[in-house]
Amino acid sequence: MVLLLPIYNWFLVIGLNENNMPLTLADTEALDLVDPLKNAKSEFSIPENTIYLNSNSLGVMPKAVPERIQDFTTREWSNDLIGSWNHNKWFEAPYRIGDKIARIIGASDSEVVATDCASINLYKLVVAALNARPGRTRIVTEAGNFPTDLYMLQSVAESFAGDVEIVAVQDRNKIIEEIDERTALVVLTDVHYKTSHLLDRKAITERTHQHGALILWDLCHSAGALPVDLNELEADLAVGCTYKYLSGGPGAPGFIFVAKHLQNQLTQPLQGWWGHAEPFKFVDDYAPTEGIGRFLCSTQSVLALTAMEVGIDVFLKYEMKDIRRKSQKLGQLFIELIEERCAGFQFTIASPRDPEQRGSHVALAHDNAYAIMQALIKHKVIGDFRAPDTIRFGFSPLYMSYADIWNAVTILEEVMQTAQWDRKEFQIVNSVT
Ligand SMILES: *Cc1c(COP(=O)(O)O)cnc(C)c1O
Repeated sequence: MVLLLPIYNWFLVIGLNENNMPLTLADTEALDLVDPLKNAKSEFSIPENTIYLNSNSLGVMPKAVPERIQDFTTREWSNDLIGSWNHNKWFEAPYRIGDKIARIIGASDSEVVATDCASINLYKLVVAALNARPGRTRIVTEAGNFPTDLYMLQSVAESFAGDVEIVAVQDRNKIIEEIDERTALVVLTDVHYKTSHLLDRKAITERTHQHGALILWDLCHSAGALPVDLNELEADLAVGCTYKYLSGGPGAPGFIFVAKHLQNQLTQPLQGWWGHAEPFKFVDDYAPTEGIGRFLCSTQSVLALTAMEVGIDVFLKYEMKDIRRKSQKLGQLFIELIEERCAGFQFTIASPRDPEQRGSHVALAHDNAYAIMQALIKHKVIGDFRAPDTIRFGFSPLYMSYADIWNAVTILEEVMQTAQWDRKEFQIVNSVT
């Protein structure tokens, strides 16, 4: 029985709960007992009595960060000072950490650098790609993409003064049809930041290449959450951030991927000295270095890179396919519990039900979404709100248990049952939602 119970419940979790057997807390605890990732939670610092469902916005801190930062401030910065660029390997940090990120996103050594933020990296690559496809006038993207991606594209189009048109496709099923001989570049986020809906990376990448265009994947919502195999995909370009699932810390540097065969064909517009072939010759004219280094611009935030590397190192201990499998099960459990226990409260599941079509968060739509999330946060169930009517619950398999999901839904049910969300205090809108 001890052995059979978890197996039986596994069927419930993957959506075979045909008899509508109610799940109990004990059922979820039984799943936790046999979870191959159960020990990973001890590597992260999670406030007491908190169910943290916002790793899609800011991953929790790895426990090893304070000690590493202490060492950085007392030894590397206070004592070793400027010599640290060489001796403590500050100078090579963007490359070293880039190589580590490469292993998480299916890239090779020297194809990734850790630097700047996703928006700036996107700008660099978009301009580089346009210049590599002269005569082509279109960038295909998705309307409703994460706003910064659209804003950066608009800024590029403005600086190309009418020679570049942004085709922002409304219906994601039609994106593929818009890619043609006029397309220079396709810029897409593989997991939709609101709905969690996953795009068909393979089909879109193939179509892009059939028409001689370049593809840029924004991996902000997939790096550290689901397997990405950029090399197998034959992807050209990618950017991403590390402060979400990868637990790199607030404002941690993002990353840039450029396929090896393209690196020396592309030049990016932010020609700073860190991308120069010989930065310490201090010559007047810019000459990009060979390889991925040309996508760097300027002096790095070494403090931020140092904290971020701790998070990346934790992820490298685990297999992305195990992380993905658990993430799908957590999401499925959440959806089934919402359907079972919050039916009648007017929630709409705004994410795909098919776990193969979904990233690592689940979105619910509700007319009172903002206030409901505020009430949940008061009970230390922390997700977030995206205007106008969406609340998101992100699942980070390394530090979330099945029982956490059960407890979170129990609290949501209570908030709805007692209409707590309707209190005045929960209607006040904060500047960060
Ligand atoms: C979170 C996110 C970003 C963040 O951009 P920053 O420059 O790091 O602030 C960009 N794109 C997408 C799709 C995101 O989800």
